[in-house]
Amino acid sequence: MPLNIYVTIKATLRCNLACRYCYGRDNHAAGAEMTTEEAMRGIDFATEYAKVAGARSITFCWHGGEPLLMADQLPSLIDHANAACSAQGIKAVHGTQTNATLLTPSTYGLIRKYFGGFVGVSLDLYSPYRTYPDGRTSTNTAIDNLDRALAAGLQCGAINLITKDNLSHIADIYDFYKQRKMNVRLARVFPISVADAMQSPMYVSDEEFATALIEYFNLWAADPQPACNTDIVKLVADLLLGSPSICLREAECHKRYLALSPGGDIFSCAEFDTPDTVIGNFLTQSPQEFAQSDARERLAARAPVPAQCRQCRYLPTCNGSCLRERYVLGYPYRCRSNRLYWDHVTAWLQEYGCSLYMLLGKSPAEKRETIDRIFKKR
Ligand code: SF4
Ligand code: SF4
Repeated sequence: MPLNIYVTIKATLRCNLACRYCYGRDNHAAGAEMTTEEAMRGIDFATEYAKVAGARSITFCWHGGEPLLMADQLPSLIDHANAACSAQGIKAVHGTQTNATLLTPSTYGLIRKYFGGFVGVSLDLYSPYRTYPDGRTSTNTAIDNLDRALAAGLQCGAINLITKDNLSHIADIYDFYKQRKMNVRLARVFPISVADAMQSPMYVSDEEFATALIEYFNLWAADPQPACNTDIVKLVADLLLGSPSICLREAECHKRYLALSPGGDIFSCAEFDTPDTVIGNFLTQSPQEFAQSDARERLAARAPVPAQCRQCRYLPTCNGSCLRERYVLGYPYRCRSNRLYWDHVTAWLQEYGCSLYMLLGKSPAEKRETIDRIFKKR
């Protein structure tokens, strides 16, 4: 069992936005919300499950819906999680991800006290799909809130969606996050079914997405004072070490990630939300029963890593990519764009005398020296 498990608490599925790309846009339980008692039971379940499974720490992600709609309730829930974990000798850390429209000064105390002063935000700069229910775009409000939060000393990281609308703005996007000293992960809109894929301009093709990633990387690589981008640093390290640092590249993520939803449903991670992917229920099952159940393995078996991956040079870093994407679409959606991008980064590493997985099995000192050599020159 992994030493750390990652538990997303979807205490509310309500959201003040209706973004057209939301991964929950097919959510069968849209608008549902946990009662305080339900949320506490979910926390207790996760903590006892971690104990049963032998984990030493839990990363709680307070997610939604829009978690800041629950800003008033979060402190007591997080206090409860900390007390429950402490009683079991388990370390607890907490994070949250917001659409930033409610990231107002009244929430700063919460973020400082419970989230270490850091908040993740989602944006789609230069793109019109991040909308209120009445169709107005919310991006300007989010940017204003983000800038105020940064000025107040909070730290923010972002996931920025790449769509056909902002493909020609990669340099602007780079400058936006560089000026704000923010890490950003560029992401694609995920189709919720095979039929849905590519039917809207919010979807970019594999080649378009890879081109955007490469353009962003080249801006970073050529910049004498490059933007802070831990995503690039992590990718470079993963390609040298052959060990994934994010769930999207992790083998058997279903063993380490869980998401708890209103009504007690347990999913393999926050990205799953349909009835056919429920793997348990924290209101009707004990943590022991859940730990002994084979529901997660059965889910993973329905979306196996494809045979092609066994021949792929990126297997140690990629492990067949995201389980949910394989489950929903029947294939690793990001495979082609990743390979195009990683070929580019691997070629760049050669300029530093480095090759794929050259640090596999090396001592910590050798690993540190090589990583420093690459990044200190920059
Ligand atoms: S299914 Fe995908 S998004 Fe979910 S934990 Fe696994 S890799 Fe991450
Ligand atoms: S890059 Fe593609 S082929 Fe290679 S391991 Fe990942 S999903 Fe499989």
